[in-house]
Amino acid sequence: MNLLDGKLVSAKIKEDIKQEAAAFTAETGRKPHLVAILVGNDGGSETYVASKMRNCELVGFESTNIRYDVTISEAELIAKIQEINADPTIDGLIVQLPLPKHINPDTITEAIDYRKDVDGFHPINLGRMQRNLPCFIPATPYGILLMLDHYGIDTAGKKAVVVGRSNIVGSPMSILLARNTNPGNCTVTLTHSRTHNLQEEVLQGDIVVAAIGKKNFVTADMVKPGAIVIDVGINREDSPATKSGFKLYGDVDFEAVSQKASWITPVPGGVGLMTIVGLLKNTLEAAKGTIYGRS
Ligand code: NDP
Repeated sequence: MNLLDGKLVSAKIKEDIKQEAAAFTAETGRKPHLVAILVGNDGGSETYVASKMRNCELVGFESTNIRYDVTISEAELIAKIQEINADPTIDGLIVQLPLPKHINPDTITEAIDYRKDVDGFHPINLGRMQRNLPCFIPATPYGILLMLDHYGIDTAGKKAVVVGRSNIVGSPMSILLARNTNPGNCTVTLTHSRTHNLQEEVLQGDIVVAAIGKKNFVTADMVKPGAIVIDVGINREDSPATKSGFKLYGDVDFEAVSQKASWITPVPGGVGLMTIVGLLKNTLEAAKGTIYGRS
């Protein structure tokens, strides 16, 4: 078994981003600028946003975290998004999900200017991705592609099985792996909670991407010997033994599956770190205007 080491790869790519950001700042007199909006006090979301902000500082970006109480109305949130859309000093905008029930995440996603949509969730970016046109690719699948690319894993012709069809991970991952690109050119099966004989489907995978949200869901008897296993899951459990007070588990039973896999991502230390890299790369592209021009 070989480890797909998110710590190592993310550190390397972040070093490259830092140099590019410095060149951008030298040329323009300003830093690439990411704004993250956080609504409410969800523990996981707070951790993710704090990590995104910290990583922005590390690579020489400006970052702004705008926080709202859970009672903010959809209209108020949209008004703020429109203000940011019009602000030429802001390159990228993300609204951390999940949002409170009274706010429609689709409405919010579409309110963000697609040229600042560095999460890559806007329908324009998703449509362009599907057509293999320049766009912002959703950060988690983007990070996974960067990881496969770093290790020079040849995905062409392989059978890929993606478990989970969310708009932010499973669905775009399936599209990206099927595209005529490298990494890509896989024969893809996208599975979900209504899939019959899931074990049989997953057993077909030369590449398995697990994005379900259930601790240790993918077990060794579901995985073909030699498979490349990408674990997207982040499942938090309280743990008095750790400093943070919680422990993270993936969607894959790492102990057992790593005995069979040829390559596997750990949790933590795998896809989560690469997701940040995907976001940073998108923000840098937004600042440089390489996809849609400068605002
Ligand atoms: P969602 O809850 O949006 O989607 C989960 C998917 O899993 C759904 O498509 C669902 O099917 C499917 N599913 C649920 N139960 C089963 C089952 N028994 N058999 C087969 N499929 C099933 O989750 P996300 O995609 O947002 O996140 C998935 C995991 O990845 C979570 O742990 C999340 O925390 C983590 N995550 C990690 C990131 C990272 O940076 N590493 C980034 C984003 C997410 P159906 O559609 O039928 O309901």
